Amino acid sequence: MRFVVFDDSRLGLLRDAAVVDVSDLVGAGETAWPPVFLLRAIADFDRLRPRLLEALRDRRGIPFERVQLRAPVVFPSKVIAAPVNYRLHIEEMRPLVKGELHAIERYGLFLKAPSSIVGPEATVELPFPERRTDHEVELGVVIGRATRDVTMADAMSHVFGYTGVMDITVRGDEDRSTRKSFDTFTPVGPVLVTADEIRDPHALRLQLWVNGERRQDGNTRDMIWNVPKLVEYASRVMTLHPGDLLSTGTPDGVGPLHPGDRVTMEVEGIGRMSVKVELRKP
Ligand code: MN
Repeated sequence: MRFVVFDDSRLGLLRDAAVVDVSDLVGAGETAWPPVFLLRAIADFDRLRPRLLEALRDRRGIPFERVQLRAPVVFPSKVIAAPVNYRLHIEEMRPLVKGELHAIERYGLFLKAPSSIVGPEATVELPFPERRTDHEVELGVVIGRATRDVTMADAMSHVFGYTGVMDITVRGDEDRSTRKSFDTFTPVGPVLVTADEIRDPHALRLQLWVNGERRQDGNTRDMIWNVPKLVEYASRVMTLHPGDLLSTGTPDGVGPLHPGDRVTMEVEGIGRMSVKVELRKP
């Protein structure tokens, strides 16, 4: 199944070029705080699955162009991310980093603020006109159930699905959690694909274009720590909850963004989405 979030907190399933609204089945479609409908749908997925499949088969769809897509990850308890998880990305970062640069084995994982998530066609707001702010395209893993101290052998059974992530990053000396947590710095989407539809998460092409020019073209087969290793490691630090997002790191080709840019990412098997870039208004 391919989940989308659209319009005002509505949950849908993609069927060809149409969106089937299943908000009523999961208590979505309300703007209540906190917006936990997607977390509940993920946690209850096994029970909901027959009704979702029935809706997907029987309900009339809304033409895709008539909905406003939102990020298909809503209110996760955390966004966990992998630093330098591709070898070629280490090499391109060396000139930009003072001191020694290591791979993920030395750094472990870091956190991004969930409030930095935005969806398709959002605007990434650059906070500092004078500082380099980069794009990164990554495979996002969404957790399906409570996960603590899981082993690599069991880790994949805790994965609900996959989505695309841009990990926008101000370069500099502050902690990663500061430089990557500005509002709008985590575009996510366009859809959340359940794990059964991705045959091998370690064979997905990752591409990113700026103003139509391709800047990144990698493949998840080149990760240093693969998905089960990342889930195992994260779950030894903190309990992972349904709906948590784990971003798996960027391949090489990162580069600076400028006001007026249009940035497009495509993760194989998940789809393509774009965002705009502007200076943040004071
Ligand atoms: Mn990253």
